[in-house]
Amino acid sequence: MARFLDSVCKRCRREQMKLFLKGSRCFSPKCPIDREAPPPGMHGLRRSKQSEYGLRLREKQRLKWFYGVLEAQFRRYFDLATRSPSNTGETLLSILERRLDNVITRLGFAKSRNMARQMVCHGHVEVNGKKCDIPSMLLKPGDKVKVKTRARSTQLAKISLQEMPPQVPDFLSIISAEEPEGVLIRMPSRSDVDPRISEIREQLIIEIATR
Ligand code: SF4
Repeated sequence: MARFLDSVCKRCRREQMKLFLKGSRCFSPKCPIDREAPPPGMHGLRRSKQSEYGLRLREKQRLKWFYGVLEAQFRRYFDLATRSPSNTGETLLSILERRLDNVITRLGFAKSRNMARQMVCHGHVEVNGKKCDIPSMLLKPGDKVKVKTRARSTQLAKISLQEMPPQVPDFLSIISAEEPEGVLIRMPSRSDVDPRISEIREQLIIEIATR
């Protein structure tokens, strides 16, 4: 499985915007974006005129990095979205919102998508009563996500709920916060996209992805 092993804050510095990849640190004064750190690299501070291609590329990278998706998987999601009869850009965002790691984060059981991914990989999560260790699993309406009742598992989720109380979107619902469990009520729409990335211009992403 391919993984990004570099410092994740570099991604935010590259985009010069917060991508919220590190949980509570992203809201602390330690965040490099709040400290106005320059883009990474020797020529990070050098400003060059952005090309039309560069503009579209940056938009795509922002979306991928925000949801923690690598290029190959992004391509698969894009192919899935193009085969759908609905609007391609909105379908792409809806697919990303339905990922298991994203659902766990938006329910507030993890402080970041990276933490949610680790919880899934380490066996702390069940989907519809069965253990699931695939963070990229796409959930369907009615699917229930539960953090295992083991003390260590529930403790992780409860700490996240306490430290970063979530604003649960309409397409999700928390069944219980004591034994952390939630359900995906319906397919997410464009208005359900995480507000921290909702200004993304999906049309630009489609233009570059169809090249
Ligand atoms: Fe690092 Fe989070 Fe700040 Fe991004 S938002 S630079 S991941 S601390």
